[in-house]
Amino acid sequence: MSRPIRVVGLCGGIGAGKSTVAALLAERGATVIDVDALGRHVLTEDDVRAAVVAEFGDGVLADDGSIDRGSLAAEVFAGAPHLDRNATGSRLADLEAISHPAINRELDRRLTRLRDRTGPADDHLVVLDMAVLVESDLGRLPDGRGYREVVVVEADREVRLERLAGRGMTAADASARMDAQAGDADRRAVADHVVVNNGDEAELAAEVDRLHRLLTSDPLTSDPATSEERPAPVRCTPDD
Ligand code: ATP
Repeated sequence: MSRPIRVVGLCGGIGAGKSTVAALLAERGATVIDVDALGRHVLTEDDVRAAVVAEFGDGVLADDGSIDRGSLAAEVFAGAPHLDRNATGSRLADLEAISHPAINRELDRRLTRLRDRTGPADDHLVVLDMAVLVESDLGRLPDGRGYREVVVVEADREVRLERLAGRGMTAADASARMDAQAGDADRRAVADHVVVNNGDEAELAAEVDRLHRLLTSDPLTSDPATSEERPAPVRCTPDD
Protein backbone atom coordinates (compact mmCIF):
# COMPACT_ATOMS: atom_id res chain seq x y z
CA MET A 1 0.00 0.00 0.00
CA SER A 2 1.27 3.48 -0.82
CA ARG A 3 0.53 6.35 1.51
CA PRO A 4 0.11 9.95 0.47
CA ILE A 5 2.79 12.35 1.65
CA ARG A 6 2.84 16.12 1.70
CA VAL A 7 6.32 17.40 0.98
CA VAL A 8 7.29 20.85 2.22
CA GLY A 9 10.55 22.71 1.54
CA LEU A 10 11.74 24.54 4.66
CA CYS A 11 14.34 27.27 4.27
CA GLY A 12 15.60 30.40 5.93
CA GLY A 13 18.67 32.56 6.09
CA ILE A 14 21.50 31.51 8.36
CA GLY A 15 20.54 31.86 12.02
CA ALA A 16 16.84 32.47 11.32
CA GLY A 17 15.86 29.25 13.07
CA LYS A 18 15.20 26.83 10.21
CA SER A 19 16.68 23.79 11.97
CA THR A 20 14.85 24.67 15.17
CA VAL A 21 11.53 24.82 13.28
CA ALA A 22 12.37 21.49 11.59
CA ALA A 23 12.99 19.90 15.01
CA LEU A 24 9.70 21.27 16.36
CA LEU A 25 7.82 19.89 13.34
CA ALA A 26 9.51 16.50 13.90
CA GLU A 27 8.30 16.56 17.52
CA ARG A 28 4.79 17.01 16.11
CA GLY A 29 5.08 13.92 13.92
CA ALA A 30 6.61 15.16 10.66
CA THR A 31 9.41 13.26 8.97
CA VAL A 32 12.34 15.63 8.48
CA ILE A 33 14.93 15.04 5.78
CA ASP A 34 18.14 17.00 6.29
CA VAL A 35 19.04 17.91 2.71
CA ASP A 36 22.40 19.37 3.78
CA ALA A 37 23.26 15.96 5.27
CA LEU A 38 22.32 14.33 1.95
CA GLY A 39 24.90 16.63 0.37
CA ARG A 40 27.56 15.08 2.61
CA HIS A 41 26.21 11.58 1.95
CA VAL A 42 26.38 11.79 -1.86
CA LEU A 43 30.10 12.57 -1.70
CA THR A 44 30.55 8.94 -0.58
CA GLU A 45 28.91 7.61 -3.78
CA ASP A 46 31.45 6.26 -6.28
CA ASP A 47 30.20 8.17 -9.32
CA VAL A 48 30.01 11.46 -7.42
CA ARG A 49 33.47 10.94 -5.94
CA ALA A 50 34.90 10.24 -9.40
CA ALA A 51 33.24 13.34 -10.89
CA VAL A 52 34.48 15.53 -8.03
CA VAL A 53 38.05 14.26 -8.45
CA ALA A 54 37.84 14.81 -12.22
CA GLU A 55 36.74 18.41 -11.60
CA PHE A 56 38.86 19.38 -8.59
CA GLY A 57 41.85 17.02 -8.73
CA ASP A 58 42.97 14.22 -6.46
CA GLY A 59 44.14 16.74 -3.86
CA VAL A 60 40.59 16.53 -2.50
CA LEU A 61 41.06 12.85 -1.60
CA ALA A 62 41.91 11.65 1.90
CA ASP A 63 44.42 8.82 2.43
CA ASP A 64 41.62 6.24 2.47
CA GLY A 65 40.33 7.37 -0.96
CA SER A 66 37.27 9.18 0.35
CA ILE A 67 36.57 12.85 -0.34
CA ASP A 68 38.14 15.05 2.31
CA ARG A 69 35.48 17.74 2.73
CA GLY A 70 37.96 20.21 4.23
CA SER A 71 40.26 19.93 1.20
CA LEU A 72 37.29 20.15 -1.15
CA ALA A 73 36.03 23.29 0.60
CA ALA A 74 39.52 24.79 0.34
CA GLU A 75 39.43 24.19 -3.44
CA VAL A 76 35.89 25.50 -3.87
CA PHE A 77 36.28 28.59 -1.73
CA ALA A 78 39.95 29.36 -2.49
CA GLY A 79 40.35 33.12 -2.23
CA ALA A 80 36.60 33.68 -1.89
CA PRO A 81 35.22 32.18 1.32
CA HIS A 82 31.59 33.14 0.61
CA LEU A 83 31.60 32.80 -3.13
CA ASP A 84 28.56 33.81 -5.15
CA ARG A 85 27.39 30.59 -6.80
CA ASN A 86 26.09 32.61 -9.75
CA ALA A 87 29.39 34.34 -10.48
CA THR A 88 31.03 33.42 -13.76
CA GLY A 89 33.54 30.65 -13.22
CA SER A 90 32.23 29.95 -9.73
CA ARG A 91 33.78 26.77 -8.38
CA LEU A 92 30.80 26.39 -6.06
CA ALA A 93 28.54 26.23 -9.13
CA ASP A 94 30.88 23.57 -10.58
CA LEU A 95 30.56 21.48 -7.43
CA GLU A 96 26.79 21.92 -7.26
CA ALA A 97 26.47 20.85 -10.91
CA ILE A 98 27.82 17.49 -9.72
CA SER A 99 26.26 17.23 -6.27
CA HIS A 100 22.76 18.64 -6.73
CA PRO A 101 21.53 16.05 -9.27
CA ALA A 102 22.93 13.34 -6.97
CA ILE A 103 21.19 14.85 -3.95
CA ASN A 104 17.89 15.02 -5.85
CA ARG A 105 18.27 11.36 -6.92
CA GLU A 106 18.84 10.31 -3.29
CA LEU A 107 15.95 12.50 -2.15
CA ASP A 108 13.68 10.89 -4.73
CA ARG A 109 14.70 7.43 -3.43
CA ARG A 110 13.94 8.41 0.17
CA LEU A 111 10.59 10.01 -0.69
CA THR A 112 9.62 6.92 -2.68
CA ARG A 113 10.49 4.72 0.32
CA LEU A 114 8.30 6.93 2.53
CA ARG A 115 5.42 6.72 0.07
CA ASP A 116 5.80 2.95 -0.20
CA ARG A 117 5.79 2.42 3.53
CA THR A 118 2.50 0.98 4.72
CA GLY A 119 0.77 3.12 7.28
CA PRO A 120 -2.29 5.15 8.02
CA ALA A 121 -3.79 6.80 4.97
CA ASP A 122 -3.09 10.29 6.25
CA ASP A 123 -1.32 13.00 4.31
CA HIS A 124 1.94 12.34 6.11
CA LEU A 125 4.00 15.52 6.43
CA VAL A 126 7.57 15.38 5.12
CA VAL A 127 9.80 18.40 5.67
CA LEU A 128 12.91 19.05 3.59
CA ASP A 129 15.25 21.04 5.80
CA MET A 130 17.40 22.88 3.28
CA ALA A 131 19.69 25.87 3.57
CA VAL A 132 19.64 26.39 -0.19
CA LEU A 133 16.17 26.46 -1.69
CA VAL A 134 15.57 29.58 -3.77
CA GLU A 135 19.18 29.53 -4.92
CA SER A 136 18.95 26.12 -6.55
CA ASP A 137 16.88 23.31 -8.01
CA LEU A 138 17.36 21.13 -4.93
CA GLY A 139 14.16 19.38 -3.88
CA ARG A 140 12.44 20.07 -7.21
CA LEU A 141 11.67 16.68 -8.67
CA PRO A 142 9.70 15.72 -11.78
CA ASP A 143 5.96 15.06 -11.65
CA GLY A 144 5.42 16.90 -8.37
CA ARG A 145 7.43 14.32 -6.40
CA GLY A 146 9.56 16.97 -4.67
CA TYR A 147 8.38 19.79 -2.43
CA ARG A 148 5.12 21.35 -3.50
CA GLU A 149 5.02 24.20 -1.00
CA VAL A 150 7.56 26.29 0.82
CA VAL A 151 7.89 27.39 4.43
CA VAL A 152 10.26 30.28 5.07
CA VAL A 153 11.64 31.06 8.53
CA GLU A 154 12.57 34.71 9.01
CA ALA A 155 14.14 36.73 11.79
CA ASP A 156 15.55 40.24 11.89
CA ARG A 157 19.22 40.53 11.02
CA GLU A 158 20.17 41.76 14.52
CA VAL A 159 18.37 38.81 16.12
CA ARG A 160 20.14 36.38 13.80
CA LEU A 161 23.54 37.97 14.48
CA GLU A 162 22.93 37.64 18.21
CA ARG A 163 21.91 33.97 17.92
CA LEU A 164 24.88 33.18 15.71
CA ALA A 165 27.20 34.93 18.17
CA GLY A 166 25.78 32.55 20.78
CA ARG A 167 26.98 29.75 18.49
CA GLY A 168 30.46 31.25 18.46
CA MET A 169 30.32 32.92 15.03
CA THR A 170 31.84 36.38 14.66
CA ALA A 171 29.60 39.20 13.42
CA ALA A 172 31.85 39.65 10.37
CA ASP A 173 31.62 35.97 9.41
CA ALA A 174 27.87 35.85 10.04
CA SER A 175 27.29 39.01 7.97
CA ALA A 176 29.40 37.72 5.10
CA ARG A 177 27.44 34.46 5.04
CA MET A 178 24.13 36.31 5.14
CA ASP A 179 25.17 38.54 2.26
CA ALA A 180 26.16 35.50 0.17
CA GLN A 181 22.72 33.92 0.62
CA ALA A 182 19.45 34.83 -1.02
CA GLY A 183 17.70 37.73 0.73
CA ASP A 184 14.40 37.74 2.61
CA ALA A 185 12.61 39.18 -0.44
CA ASP A 186 13.81 36.31 -2.64
CA ARG A 187 12.66 33.73 -0.11
CA ARG A 188 9.32 35.49 0.42
CA ALA A 189 8.70 35.42 -3.32
CA VAL A 190 8.51 31.61 -3.17
CA ALA A 191 6.96 31.28 0.30
CA ASP A 192 3.57 29.71 0.94
CA HIS A 193 4.01 30.10 4.71
CA VAL A 194 6.26 32.48 6.62
CA VAL A 195 7.28 31.84 10.22
CA VAL A 196 8.58 34.98 11.91
CA ASN A 197 11.04 33.97 14.61
CA ASN A 198 11.98 37.14 16.46
CA GLY A 199 10.58 36.02 19.80
CA ASP A 200 11.54 33.45 22.38
CA GLU A 201 11.34 29.66 22.13
CA ALA A 202 7.81 29.52 23.56
CA GLU A 203 6.55 31.95 20.92
CA LEU A 204 8.23 29.92 18.21
CA ALA A 205 6.67 26.70 19.52
CA ALA A 206 3.21 28.33 19.37
CA GLU A 207 3.84 29.47 15.79
CA VAL A 208 4.98 26.01 14.81
CA ASP A 209 1.81 24.55 16.37
CA ARG A 210 -0.19 26.80 14.11
CA LEU A 211 1.93 25.98 11.06
CA HIS A 212 1.65 22.26 11.79
CA ARG A 213 -2.12 22.51 11.98
CA LEU A 214 -2.20 24.30 8.62
CA LEU A 215 0.08 21.77 6.98
CA THR A 216 -1.85 18.79 8.26
CA SER A 217 -5.37 20.10 7.69
CA ASP A 218 -5.56 22.71 4.93
CA PRO A 219 -5.35 21.63 1.32
CA LEU A 220 -2.17 22.46 -0.57
CA THR A 221 -1.87 26.22 -1.01
CA SER A 222 -0.10 26.04 -4.36
CA ASP A 223 1.90 23.86 -6.62
CA PRO A 224 5.26 25.31 -7.72
CA ALA A 225 5.36 22.78 -10.54
CA THR A 226 2.33 24.33 -12.19
CA SER A 227 1.48 27.71 -10.67
CA GLU A 228 2.84 30.89 -12.17
CA GLU A 229 1.03 33.36 -9.92
CA ARG A 230 1.80 32.61 -6.29
CA PRO A 231 -0.68 33.52 -3.56
CA ALA A 232 0.41 35.81 -0.75
CA PRO A 233 2.15 33.70 1.89
CA VAL A 234 0.32 32.75 5.05
CA ARG A 235 2.18 34.35 7.95
CA CYS A 236 2.40 32.50 11.23
CA THR A 237 3.06 35.18 13.82
CA PRO A 238 1.95 35.64 17.41
CA ASP A 239 -0.24 38.55 16.25
CA ASP A 240 -2.44 36.38 14.06
P1 ATP B 1 21.75 27.52 9.89
O1 ATP B 1 21.39 28.05 8.56
O2 ATP B 1 23.07 27.96 10.38
O3 ATP B 1 21.56 26.05 10.01
P2 ATP B 1 19.22 27.92 11.16
O4 ATP B 1 18.36 28.86 10.42
O5 ATP B 1 18.96 26.46 10.98
O6 ATP B 1 20.73 28.24 10.90
P3 ATP B 1 18.99 27.43 13.95
O7 ATP B 1 20.22 26.58 14.06
O8 ATP B 1 17.68 26.75 14.03
O9 ATP B 1 19.08 28.34 12.67
O10 ATP B 1 19.00 28.58 15.04
C1 ATP B 1 20.16 29.39 15.23
C2 ATP B 1 20.42 29.50 16.73
O11 ATP B 1 19.38 30.25 17.32
C3 ATP B 1 20.42 28.15 17.44
O12 ATP B 1 21.40 28.20 18.46
C4 ATP B 1 19.02 28.06 18.05
O13 ATP B 1 18.99 27.28 19.21
C5 ATP B 1 18.72 29.52 18.34
N1 ATP B 1 17.27 29.85 18.25
C6 ATP B 1 16.46 29.63 17.20
N2 ATP B 1 15.23 30.11 17.44
C7 ATP B 1 15.26 30.65 18.69
C8 ATP B 1 14.29 31.32 19.51
N3 ATP B 1 13.04 31.56 19.11
N4 ATP B 1 14.69 31.73 20.75
C9 ATP B 1 15.96 31.53 21.15
N5 ATP B 1 16.93 30.91 20.42
C10 ATP B 1 16.59 30.48 19.20
